[in-house]
Amino acid sequence: MRTLTLLGATGSIGASTLDLVRRNRDDWHVVALTAHSNVADLARLAREFRADIAVIADAAMLPALREALAGSGIAAAGGEDALVEAAARGADVTVAAIVGCAGLAPTMAAIECGRTVALANKEALVSAGEIMTAAVARTGATLLPVDSEHNAIFQCLAGNDHGDVRWITLTASGGPFRDWSHDQLAAATPAQAVKHPNWDMGAKISVDSATMFNKGLELIEAFHLFPVGLDRLRIIVHPQSIIHSMVEYRDGSTLAQLGPSDMRVPIASALAWPQRMQTPCAPLDLAAIGELTFRAPDEDRFPATRLARQAAQAGGATPAVLNAANEIAVAAFLAGQVGFTRIAAMVEDVLSRYAPPAPAVLADVFAVDAEARATARGLMQPA
Ligand code: NDP
Repeated sequence: MRTLTLLGATGSIGASTLDLVRRNRDDWHVVALTAHSNVADLARLAREFRADIAVIADAAMLPALREALAGSGIAAAGGEDALVEAAARGADVTVAAIVGCAGLAPTMAAIECGRTVALANKEALVSAGEIMTAAVARTGATLLPVDSEHNAIFQCLAGNDHGDVRWITLTASGGPFRDWSHDQLAAATPAQAVKHPNWDMGAKISVDSATMFNKGLELIEAFHLFPVGLDRLRIIVHPQSIIHSMVEYRDGSTLAQLGPSDMRVPIASALAWPQRMQTPCAPLDLAAIGELTFRAPDEDRFPATRLARQAAQAGGATPAVLNAANEIAVAAFLAGQVGFTRIAAMVEDVLSRYAPPAPAVLADVFAVDAEARATARGLMQPA
C-alpha cells in the first residue's frame, strides 16, 4: 500500500485521480485531500477515502468543514498555511492538482519531502521554474508530469539521451475557437469558451485552451521539464487530440504517445510509474477515428504561444508575470468583465511593463506574482 496526498481533490484532475484510486482501494492510503472552498465535496471525499486530514484553503470555511467531518475522526484544517503543512506531511505520491499559482507553495512543500510529485498544476512550474527544478534536484524528489502532453513526452524520452533530440513537438487541439475569425473571437462568450471539443476540464484551463495560453504555459512547462533548449520545442495543432505529443530524434525516428482524450491515462501513468496500471478507458479505435490531421498554429489570431515563447526567452520572473496576468485576465473574462481577445492583449500589456530580475527564492516569485496581478487589475479600470 502506498500513501497519497491530493492537492485540489474537488477539481477535474482531482475527480479523475480519485476515480482511479477508487478502483484500486487496497493499493492506497489517503493522507490529505484539499480544496479551496467546496466544503461539501471535500468532506464527502475525505469520508469516502478515509483521509487522515482534509484541508480547506479558504480559512473562513473551516467551521463548516469541521461540522461536515464531525464524528468521522478525520482532522480538519483551514487556510493557506494549513495547505502547506498538509503537503509537508509527505506522501509516497502527491498529486498537485490545484489550479493556478495558488498551488505553488503546497507543491513546493511536497517537493521538499523528496518523494514523488505528480504535477498537473502547470502554473506553479511556469511561475517558479528554476526554483522548483532546483528543489527537485536538491531533494532527490521525482517530478512526474501529469499534463497529457508532458506525460507523453516523458514516455517518449524514456531510455533516450536528451542530446539526441531534434524536436519535441507539443500537440494542441486548437480549442473550441480553432476556426473562428478575429471578429468571432472578439464576441466569444465564457459559455462558448469553456466548452472544449475534446476534453472535459476545469473552467480556467478550458479558457486557456481557447486562447492557446494553455499551450503557451505548456511550452514553458516543457522548457523546464525537458531541458533540450527552447529552440527545439515546437507546437503543432492536431484537432483530434489523439497524439498527445512527439519526440523526434536525430536519426529521423519520431516517437509519439497516443491515447483517448481522458486524463485518467496520464494520471494512471504517473500513479503507477515506472509500472503500468489498468484504467477503464476504452481502447483506442484508430479505424473509427479515421484521420489524424495537423496544421501550423496561427499566432496572429492566437498570440498566446508567441507571448509565452518570448517570456521563456526573457527568463527570470517574466513567465511568472505572464502567468499572473493571464490568471487575472481569465478570471475577468469568466466574470464577464472583459472580452475574449482582451485576455492576450492584457497579458501583452502587463509583460511590456516589466523586466523583473530572476527570483532567488519563492518569496520573490510571490512578490512578482502579486505585482503583476495588481497591474493586470489596473488595466481593467476605466481610464
Ligand atoms: P478545477 O478548477 O477543476 O479544480 C481546481 C482545484 O483546485 C479544486 O480542487 C479547487 O477547489 C482547488 N483550488 C482552486 N483555487 C484554489 C486556491 N486558491 N487554493 C487552493 N485550492 C484551490 O481545475 P482542473 O482540475 O481542471 O485543473 C487543475 C490543474 O491541472 C490546473 O493547473 C490545470 O492547468 C491542470 N491540468 C488540468 C487538466 C484537466 O483535464 N482538467 C489537464 C492538464 C492539466 P474548489 O473546488 O474548492 O474550488
